[in-house]
Amino acid sequence: MCGIIGYIGKRQAMPIVMNGLKRMEYRGYDSAGVCFVENEALQIRKQAGKLSELEKDLFGVNFDATVGMGHTRWATHGVPNQTNAHPHFDEDNNFAVIHNGIIENYASLKIELEKKGHVFKTETDTETVIHLVEEFYKTGMDFETAVREAIYCIKGAYGFVFMCRHEPEKIIVARCGSPLVLGYGNEEFLV
Ligand code: GLU
Repeated sequence: MCGIIGYIGKRQAMPIVMNGLKRMEYRGYDSAGVCFVENEALQIRKQAGKLSELEKDLFGVNFDATVGMGHTRWATHGVPNQTNAHPHFDEDNNFAVIHNGIIENYASLKIELEKKGHVFKTETDTETVIHLVEEFYKTGMDFETAVREAIYCIKGAYGFVFMCRHEPEKIIVARCGSPLVLGYGNEEFLV
């Protein structure tokens, strides 16, 4: 069972995200990854294996970001390795997603997206959703509307958290079937 955590507020996001992932370790996982905004870019770090591997990868990282998300993966589509670990992102690293669940119609969506020129990097069902978001965003929609349109295309059970380089002060969450809990703090939100 995967674990998802997202943070948006005034505190440093990454210690909260990593602590949250540790507290969900008992659920079992095969790989882990995080996303945060630094230097106006989405920074993604992911590793196969234990959270300690991801922690090594984060050594020396500037933890000023106050928005971030993290994921522990339980593979359903694609082998457990670093490439297939979440977050997944589009060709230009403008959007990132973490996902719990299964996108049942991913194969047909992937064929359509490849016809439109999207290049897939992973074997996961999850990657289709981020190319869909990119596709809708390109038509002039804002981040939230593009995510909503992408979600309308998907069949299956899911919990998602999305981030966008162009709107770095936001995270967008969606769920259907999978549980996803919102937490409200003092000028901060957790998922
Ligand atoms: N189906 C996705 C994958 O295989 C998500 C798995 C999960 O819930 O961790 O990457």
